[in-house]
This record gives sequence, C-alpha cells and structure tokens, in this order.
Amino acid sequence: MVDLKQSVQYVKTVGPTKVAYLNNLNIYTLGDLLTYFPREYEDRSKLKAIDSIQDGEEVTIEARVVSEVSINRIRKNMIILKTIVEDDTGRCTITWFNQTYIKTRIKRGQTYRFFGKVTKVVNHFEMRNPVFDEVGKQKNTGKIMPIYPSTYNLSQTAIRQAVENALLLIDGNMPETLPDYLLTDYNLEGLESSLKKIHFPSNTEERLLARKRLVFEELLTMQLTLLELKGESQRYEGISFDKNVKMSDVINSLPFSLTKAQLKVLEEIDSDMENSKPMNRLLQGDVGSGKTVVAMICAYKAVKSGYQAAIMAPTAILAEQHFEEFKKILEPFNIKIELLLGSTKPKKKQEILENLSNGEIDILIGTHALLTENVLFKKLGLVVTDEQHRFGVKQRETIISKGEHPDVLVMTATPIPRTLALILYGDLDISIIDELPPNRKKIETYAVTKRMEDRVNAFIKKNIDEGRQVYVVCPLVEEKETEEQSADLKAVKEWTEIYQKQIFPEYKVACVYGKMKAKEKEEVMSNFKNGKIDILISTTVIEVGVNVPNASVMVVENADRFGLAQLHQLRGRVGRGKYQSYCILKYASNCSQVGKERMKTMQETNDGFVIAEKDLELRGTGEFFGTKQHGLPEFKIANLFVDMPMLKSVQSVALKIEAEDSGLKLEKNKKLRALVDEKLKQSISL
Ligand code: ADP
Ligand code: MG
Repeated sequence: MVDLKQSVQYVKTVGPTKVAYLNNLNIYTLGDLLTYFPREYEDRSKLKAIDSIQDGEEVTIEARVVSEVSINRIRKNMIILKTIVEDDTGRCTITWFNQTYIKTRIKRGQTYRFFGKVTKVVNHFEMRNPVFDEVGKQKNTGKIMPIYPSTYNLSQTAIRQAVENALLLIDGNMPETLPDYLLTDYNLEGLESSLKKIHFPSNTEERLLARKRLVFEELLTMQLTLLELKGESQRYEGISFDKNVKMSDVINSLPFSLTKAQLKVLEEIDSDMENSKPMNRLLQGDVGSGKTVVAMICAYKAVKSGYQAAIMAPTAILAEQHFEEFKKILEPFNIKIELLLGSTKPKKKQEILENLSNGEIDILIGTHALLTENVLFKKLGLVVTDEQHRFGVKQRETIISKGEHPDVLVMTATPIPRTLALILYGDLDISIIDELPPNRKKIETYAVTKRMEDRVNAFIKKNIDEGRQVYVVCPLVEEKETEEQSADLKAVKEWTEIYQKQIFPEYKVACVYGKMKAKEKEEVMSNFKNGKIDILISTTVIEVGVNVPNASVMVVENADRFGLAQLHQLRGRVGRGKYQSYCILKYASNCSQVGKERMKTMQETNDGFVIAEKDLELRGTGEFFGTKQHGLPEFKIANLFVDMPMLKSVQSVALKIEAEDSGLKLEKNKKLRALVDEKLKQSISL
C-alpha cells in the first residue's frame, strides 16, 4: 500500500521549487496533493461547428489552417500572431499574443483542435490564445480539464502534471478508507477510482459519482466525530443544581418581562441544570434577542446552588459590558462578580485569583485570560462562552477542565441556518431564541455609493442634533494590500481625521481599534456610553455585543468588503433602544457581484437566520463553517449549501452506526475509527 504521508517531493516533476510553492497551498504530503480538489472544470471535450458558436463561448473546434501565421509587432512587448482556420461550416480568426514559437508549430493546410474563448469582432469570430493539439494526438483538448484553486506561482499545467503523477503513484495500491458494507449499502465508488475521476473525469456523470463518494466520506467523518465528542461529555456524572433555586426570582426583578422565547429557552436550560448529566448546550438567537440576560439567570441558578460561574467573551469590550450588566441585575442578590482581562493590573489580578480560589467570587467574567493556568476556581459549576465564533475545541476543554464536569452553555453571536445548526453542532443540544423583545423598530437599511455622501452626512447631523449617537465602522487595512486595492481604503485614524476635521468639526468624534491600549479603549467606550462622544469611529472591534441604546445610526465605510454575517452583527449595534435606527452601507459602485448581492440582502431583510442562509449560498463552501466556527478542520470538498440533502442522509447514517456501535469498536468499523481518530488529532492540533 502506498504511504500517503510521504512528502510531495517524491512525486515526479515536483522539484524543490515546486515543493515550496505547494507548501504555500498547504500541500505537504502525497495525500494532501491528492485531496487538492479542482475548483471547477473546463469542458474541452465537446466539438462545435464554427457556425454554431455563440459570442463569448469557450469551445473546441476542429479546423484546418488556411493561411500562414502572420506576425505583427504592435508595440514593444506586444507581438500578435494571427491565422485563419476553417471547418465545413465557416471560418474563424485565431490570435496569440507574444507566443512567437507558435509560428513553428502551426502549419498551413494541417487540421488541429483549438480550445479557447471566442469573441465576435465586427462580423467574424476570433479565438484568442487557444490551446491546441494535432488531431489524433490530444493532450490539451478533447478532455474535461480540472481547474485548481489559486495556485500562486504554479501554473494550472504544473499542478495538473503533479496530480497526474501522484495518481500514478497510487495506481492499484491506494488503501480504501470506507468499510465495504458502506460502499455497498450506499452505492459508493472506491476511493482510488474516485480520486482519479475527481481530477480527470471523462464525463460529468463520472465526476458526480466520484464527488458523491468523497463528500459522503467527509461529511460522515465529521458527523461521527461530533457524535463522539457529544458522547464523551455525557459519559460523566455532572452537577445537579438545586431545584429549590428559582430562576423566577431574578426574572421578576428585571426591568422588563422576558419574551416567550427567552422563557422557553430558560426552561430547557433549567431542566438540563437540574439533571445530573453535564449540560452541553448551544444558545442561538438573532442579534439583540436577549441572550445575555439568559446567561445571567443561569449564572444565578449556579451560584445560589453553591457553585461558581465563568463567563468568557471574545473581546475585552464585550467582557466589560457583561460585567456592568451582570452587576446591575445580580449584585442586589448578594452575588460577587469580578472581571479578569489580559490587561488587569497584577495587584488586582492577584486579589481576584485569591478570591476565586477561596470561593469569595461567585461569577468571574473575562476574555481568554480565564484560560490561563493560574486561574483556579473553588467550585466551578457553570461555563458560559459568548462568542463570535466558537472557541476551539481545545479552549473549551481548557476552561471546562477547571471544574468537575461543569455545565456548559455556548452562545453564538451570529445565527446559523436552522437546518444546519442541528447537524453541524451535533455535539451540542440546541436552544433557539426565535423572537425579539417587543417594540423593536425595524432598522432601516440603505446601501449607498459615493455620490450620496452629502446626504448621508446631513442625515448623520440631523440624528446627532436630535440627541442620538452614531457609529462609523471601517475595514481593517492590511499591510499586504496593494496600493491599487487600498487607494479607497483608509485606516481608522484617517477616517477619524476626516470626520472630525473636515465633516463634523462641531461634534465630538473619537475612535477605537483593536491595537489600542486596553485602558484607552475602555475610556473611549465609556465616554461613548455616557454620551460624551457623538461619533465613534472603529474597526470591527465593536462588531459583537456592544450595547449603547442611544446610538441610532450605523455607517459602514467600504461595506462591500465585509461578509454578510458581519454586516448583520454591525447593524445589530443600533436599534437597541426606543429610537428608530438606521444602517447606512457605503459601497463602491464597481464592487463585485457578490458584494452587490450582499448589499441587496441587507436592505431586504433584518432576519439573521435568513441572512445566514444567504451568506451560506453566496460563499457556498466550507468557509462559512470554517475552522474558527466549530474547531474542526474545513471541508475539502463538501459544500454545505449544495450538499444539504447529502448531509441530512449522512447524519442518519451516522446515528445508525453510533446506535449500533458507539465508540466504533466493531471490526467492521475499524476504518471509520481511523477516520475519526485522524479528525480528532487534527482538531486538537489546531
Ligand atoms: P444579544 O442576544 O444580541 O446578546 P443582548 O442580550 O445584548 O442581545 O440584549 C439586547 C438588549 O435587549 C439589552 O439591552 C437587553 O437588556 C435588552 N433585552 C433583553 N431581553 C429583553 C426583553 N425581554 N425585553 C426588553 N428588552 C430586553
Ligand atoms: Mg450578546
């Protein structure tokens, strides 16, 4: 059997330079190369008659050369070669740029196959820079050609060659990864032939069959891994929180009544908490649906049952805000709450750590700082993570290990499609808050281009004069951006200058950004909360969770550069009080089609779940549930939008296997055991 872990350098045509380029693409081993799947395919197999070509089409034609190849030097560095070809139905001009060697390869009177894009020029067709073969010796035409994702310094030909040679290496000795019974029961092709056909299919049908098998394996492995993680956490005896501690005591003290959805979710959590199995629950809800207060009530239950609670947030700004909100509601119940950040002063930190381990502190709120080794609880009973993306499996494990099988509540900031949540968070139980607090006004959203700038500024002024506040968010400008890309992009500080000096000298403008000192950040945020700042310019550090009910306008500069989920999060910063709120998305009129679709979606809907569906559709790949989302490696081939039906059936397959052989110990599931072990290894090493 071939060793898939051997370095790519052993593949023919892959020398040291290519090894380096392949490494850039995360291809290190033979196995990596074989699973570097084509992004799309170019069908060069179908021959077309010249008179049936459409303008703009990519086609293969078989035609005889009827003129000598002419060479014209247009200007320095630009040589055009031109010839005329014909078949029984018509004529076509063929041009090449700068490829002077063509002159010696194309002979008048000979017939060739040409593949390329055809454009109509005045009254005839022209094919530019085609690849070609002599008839009967097809190498570049007559096939379905794989096109690989961005290959940097590697040409498509180079990567195709490498893959072709890799396939020769495995020929006849590729180990099968799925058990026979699955291949038979679900009518799946073997691995070796699937790999050959996914790279070089001879027709679409063949390609789809190969793809089906590879997607099946990828999704099944993920499902089995998630099920295993879930089973793992439930094997232990956890905490039964006190039935006599009533959540309603806090609920009745709130300045508002909870929505039906919040109450339903609390009921689910309450029953988990009283149950001795460790809770492992995902709390989903749209922006502003009131997840924080739910977490607070759970923390109350834990504390009054004699345990401590840890609340972990992805940013310091958010942790601070939680800290303030928790204190407001829970301190009257004689609960001691503390905040621990990376920036907490050593003396204060020491004090917190001491009081945490002797049980003085009931609830500790903080950032990743909570994960530090010397953070020790006396009796940790509840862990809540509030997060933009799920913390990695490893990080969750770290915080959980600070207690003895504590209950865990994971809150998502961004909703994910309902259908997918059930499947992709298979290691967690799910609660959904599917309703917003009453009297929330719909945030009006406008996507505008530069020429609306004056009106936008007048609108901002009007809102500030009415007593409101405004956010302006701009994208992070990365150093590696080219000049051309960043011509229109300004850093936060530049925007602040512009807004303060040029547009709104009469108002107070300030900025926050990630790299700022924690203390300064804190000060700016609290000044904004207190209304001392009218316009807050920021990067997406304010994306998640920030709550300033008086702010009513969210302006996003270069909005087309943001993803849908992010835009929805940003929009969720306004409309949190009683004022009608607005979101203004400034986009470049020449932005991509996808960018325009995003603007359209944002204007059409305020529903986070609908937006999540659309986001998935637009991205279409594993990107949406990338590494950061679930702590498992990204998909190499599955596309969660397209493969939804497959995902559903694979889930039932996984459940069946799990029911029969939990832990995958049976001989017939040995191969599945290996797949899951490999996946777990990858997710831990992340
Ligand atoms: P998110 O789910 O986005 O984290 P938050 O928990 O920050 O939302 O809640 C948004 C705002 O709504 C907060 O100011 C919170 O106090 C308020 N809120 C939460 N639940 C209710 C409710 N049932 N009625 C009215 N306001 C509520
Ligand atoms: Mg929140």
